[in-house]
Amino acid sequence: MNTEVNSKLIIISSPSGAGKTTLCKLLIKKMQNVNLSISYTSRNKRLNEVNGKDYHFVSKEKFEKLKKKNFFIETATNFKNLYGSPYKNIYLSNKRNQHILFDIDWKGARKIRKNYKKDEIIDFFILPPSKTELKRRLIKRGRDNNQEINLRLSYAMEEMKHFKEYKYVLINEKVQNTVNQIKKIIEYHQLIYYQKNILQKKLKRIINR
Ligand code: 5GP
Repeated sequence: MNTEVNSKLIIISSPSGAGKTTLCKLLIKKMQNVNLSISYTSRNKRLNEVNGKDYHFVSKEKFEKLKKKNFFIETATNFKNLYGSPYKNIYLSNKRNQHILFDIDWKGARKIRKNYKKDEIIDFFILPPSKTELKRRLIKRGRDNNQEINLRLSYAMEEMKHFKEYKYVLINEKVQNTVNQIKKIIEYHQLIYYQKNILQKKLKRIINR
């Protein structure tokens, strides 16, 4: 990754139903210098989803082919479907001097942490206010049947155990507030980066005097 520019890898993970998709969309709207990494998936497209916007929907075979060609930074299996983040999004954002946002699970986050420096990553784990609220949101979404809701709920409980691996853990009570918190944290990291740069230049001058 180019160290001259301040592009960060922003990771947002949360159990499904915690409001992550709305949150990511709002964040992108609010921060013009953040690009969303569109993942590839082998799962079926839902009615309201658009190919190339929500995901790149591909067959399992196509996904496996791309994986073999080292097309992905990371891949994971969720609910028997394959998901993967392509490398090309990072290159593009880096070139444009923009941050890149990954809406991925804890397994993907772990893989990215392994391959990039700590200060290139800002990772967030978003929790729902309570288990009851999570269930309510999953039901409200009206997408899954009872059995699937229970499956997602128990998966969510498992997933939540990984919150300690993240730099920031936020409880998503009101999505606008959560978005503002995330924005402030990203800006804080930017500020630190610039301050460090200025300090380094000053130090060089002092040392070389
Ligand atoms: P959904 O099918 O509900 O859109 O997503 C299911 C889960 O897969 C969510 O937790 C979502 O964050 C995660 N996910 C989506 N894209 C990727 C990806 O590219 N990599 C990984 N590791 N997880 C992903």
